[in-house]
Amino acid sequence: MHLSKLFIPVTKNLPAEAKIKSHQLMLRTGMIKQSSAGIYSWLPLGFKVMKKIEQIVREEQNFIGAQEMLMPTIQSSEIWKESGRYDDYGEEMLRIKDRQGREMLYGPTNEELITDIFRSSVKSYKSLPQLLYHIQWKFRDEIRPRFGVMRCKEFYMKDAYSFDLSDEDARKSYNKMFYSYLKTFERLGLKAIPMAADTGPIGGDLSHEFIILADTGESQIYADKDVFEIEIDKYNFDDKSLEKMRKDFTNIYAVTDDKFKEEEFNKRVKKEKQIKTKGIEVGHIFYFSDKYSKPMNCLIDDKDGKKTSVKMGSYGIGVSRLVGATIEANYNNNIMKWPKSISPFDVVIIPSISKNNKENLEKAEKIYQELKKQNIDVLLDDVEENMSNKFKKHDLIGVPYQIIVGSKSENEKYEFKEVNSKSEMLSLDKIKIKLKI
Ligand code: ATP
Ligand code: MG
Repeated sequence: MHLSKLFIPVTKNLPAEAKIKSHQLMLRTGMIKQSSAGIYSWLPLGFKVMKKIEQIVREEQNFIGAQEMLMPTIQSSEIWKESGRYDDYGEEMLRIKDRQGREMLYGPTNEELITDIFRSSVKSYKSLPQLLYHIQWKFRDEIRPRFGVMRCKEFYMKDAYSFDLSDEDARKSYNKMFYSYLKTFERLGLKAIPMAADTGPIGGDLSHEFIILADTGESQIYADKDVFEIEIDKYNFDDKSLEKMRKDFTNIYAVTDDKFKEEEFNKRVKKEKQIKTKGIEVGHIFYFSDKYSKPMNCLIDDKDGKKTSVKMGSYGIGVSRLVGATIEANYNNNIMKWPKSISPFDVVIIPSISKNNKENLEKAEKIYQELKKQNIDVLLDDVEENMSNKFKKHDLIGVPYQIIVGSKSENEKYEFKEVNSKSEMLSLDKIKIKLKI
């Protein structure tokens, strides 16, 4: 892509409500545009990043055997009346009537709909376990949409649902998701820690919010700093190892606000290891047993032919929130650096161009073609502008690698730079190798 052709409608005058750096950056680099309060259009640069995040989420869901499907955004109120949530959900639910006057709603989540799908087809324990997920827009009429894509009304979420015969089996499904989440966030270059969260009347300890530390986060967290040291690579993908993994995490104190008790914190965590800070919730997994299957009469035959309510859990990841959260985690001192796995481009070529000298641009075009042939996603800054302005612009766009074609390039060597590191002079072959690793 040539920068001169890229649709980046930069917002010059930031609105007053853009208080946090991710919101500001996303507006300044034209990743999103607000359409109304808490509702955004995703423009090419932002959309590309979000799609890359989505794909990583998808791959890690598929890896654990979850199956992708797609449920609609608009749902009938009937199933919500069955579960009892139509009244409970309150004003966050966007309620709509169709032309026949039927009560519909824009789905804020999908427990009811998936339970309805499941009960109409699965009747026997033999079909269990099942893990189903979709990645779909959700709508919640948040009372205070803010922080750009972090808390909005319309947002993109991966939500998965597990179906099992017993609590014991359900725990295995839960552990798989736990593992999948850790892998997903690791691939996104994020350190997201599972923190024990409230389970409400369901009880038990199977509810975790995955949180990344950030001053601008809305979640208050309390943790033992050892929880940040657990290496996930040492666990295998089998039930025994995954159970151990979850236990290892759960044995170290790490909780969100609603679970926090000062006395317990002080008793379990030495003063020097105590972390009290803020974080961004990027995912939430939750085992709720028969909370929906029971009122909705979602029954299966067990081994003895007895009918029993299927045991369910739900597992959410805020895909669109993750775009903002990744920026919060990686944008420092006015320099953005996207993790390689989700960067909008693999590399940017920055030639020094002036009215009378287009030689560097020609060289840059050649490099551009070469890299494209190798399936490397390249951005070429073909805009005629002085280098210091260019560098400032790319500090914001955040492509992690730069090839600078200017006075230093000679003997077919070019200045290659990884953002926040020193540059080096490399041949194009060496650059290709670096970009492909
Ligand atoms: P929160 O406490 O932040 O409101 P929640 O408990 O309502 O989150 P879930 O229903 O568990 O969230 O949704 C799963 C994930 O979807 C969350 O972990 C978060 O990443 C994302 N999410 C939830 N609400 C929003 C929102 N209003 N805007 C953007 N992302 C959201
Ligand atoms: Mg919420």
